[in-house]
Amino acid sequence: MPKIPAGFTELTCLQLDRIVESTGEPSYRAGQLRKWIYQRLAISYDEMTDLPLAFRERLSRQIRLHSLVPVHIATGNDGTVKTLFQLVDGQTVESALMFYDGVGENGRYTVCVSTQVGCAVGCSFCATGRQGFERNLTPGEIIDQVLYFAHYLKEEVKKNNSSPKNNKNTRISNIVFMGMGEPLANYDNLWQAIEMLNSPEGFGLGARNMVISTSGLVPQIKRLAEEKLQVGLAVSLHAAENELRNKLVPINKKYPLEKLIPACREYSRLSGRRLSFEYALFKGLNDSLTQAQALAELIKGLKCHVNLIPANRISGSSFAPPSHGAVLAFENELKRCHINVTLRQRRGQDIDAGCGQLRSRFLKNAEDNIIKSVLAEKV
Ligand code: SF4
Repeated sequence: MPKIPAGFTELTCLQLDRIVESTGEPSYRAGQLRKWIYQRLAISYDEMTDLPLAFRERLSRQIRLHSLVPVHIATGNDGTVKTLFQLVDGQTVESALMFYDGVGENGRYTVCVSTQVGCAVGCSFCATGRQGFERNLTPGEIIDQVLYFAHYLKEEVKKNNSSPKNNKNTRISNIVFMGMGEPLANYDNLWQAIEMLNSPEGFGLGARNMVISTSGLVPQIKRLAEEKLQVGLAVSLHAAENELRNKLVPINKKYPLEKLIPACREYSRLSGRRLSFEYALFKGLNDSLTQAQALAELIKGLKCHVNLIPANRISGSSFAPPSHGAVLAFENELKRCHINVTLRQRRGQDIDAGCGQLRSRFLKNAEDNIIKSVLAEKV
C-alpha cells in the first residue's frame, strides 16, 4: 500500500487513484470521493452514502478529510467573514470571504487565502510581517481554506433558504492568494493547490479567477510566466523608487525595481496576461502627486492595471490612510497619465480584515492569557 498523506486534500488525483487501486475497489471510486469533497463539500465520510461502508471506514482510519479547525469567526458590517483557523500542529492562519455586489445574480464571492504561517518578507506596514515566519502551508491547508468557505456559503443558503445578501449565485467565484505569507515563496505547494482548485476533478474554478499576489520575488515571477494555467499575478509595489520601497517592502533590497519591473514586462510578454500592481496608500509617505507621476513613469507601456488601496490602520503602528481627497487626487493623476487604475474598497474594516491582524490580536490575547495565568500562579 502506498504511503498515505494525512489529509485528503493533500492528495493529487494520481495519488488518490493509486490509493483506491490498492484497496481493490473499482477505479471510479476515486472520482466519487473527489466529487464528495470538492463539489458536494462533504465534511464527513458518513455523508458519502454511495460508497461501501467498509471502504469508508477504512479510509476514515487513514485519511483525515480536513485540516483546519475554525477557532474564531468575525463578520463585518460589509458582509466580510474572517476566520482564524487552527492547524493540526497548533499553528494558526486566517482567511477571509468577501462579498462584492454584482448585478442581479452576478454577485461575486472572493476568498482571500493564506499560504504561510507568518511571513519572512517583513513588510513594515503588515501585521503578518511582524509575526515572523513559522512555516509553509501544505497544499491541503491551502485548499481547505477555500472548501471551508464554500461549505460556509452552502450552509448559509440552507439556513436562509436563499444565499447571503439574497443572491442566488453562491459559488465561490474568485480566489486571491493575498492572505498571510508570500505565496511565491511556497511555490510548489501553492501550485499543487491551484491545480486541484482548477481541475474539473477537483474544485473546478477557472484559473483566470485566481490571482497570486507577490511582494516581488523575481525568479518565481519568471517561473510563473512559463506556467500554462492562466492564473493572474498581482505585484505589491507600494512605492516607485527604491529608497522608500526598501523600507516598506524589504525584499526590494534583494530584487530592486531595476530587476522587478523588467521581470514584470517579461511576464507580460511571455504569458500574454495583464498583471496588476497593488499600491497601498499611506498618508504622507507615498501619496503625493509627484509619486503618482513616478509610478506612471515606472510602469509606462506595461499591460497592467493599478489597484489603489487606502491602507488599513494597524494598532500600534504609525501607518495611516490618506484623506479621501488625497486618494482621489492620486487616482486622478494616474488617470491623467493614461494608467488603468481602480480604487479598491477596504473590506472588513471593523473586523481586523488586514492581512494578519486577526491572528496578531489572537496571539496577543494568548500572550496576555499566559501572563495572566503565570501571575495567578504566583499569587
Ligand atoms: S504584506 Fe505580504 S509579503 Fe509583506 S509581510 Fe505581509 S504577508 Fe508578507
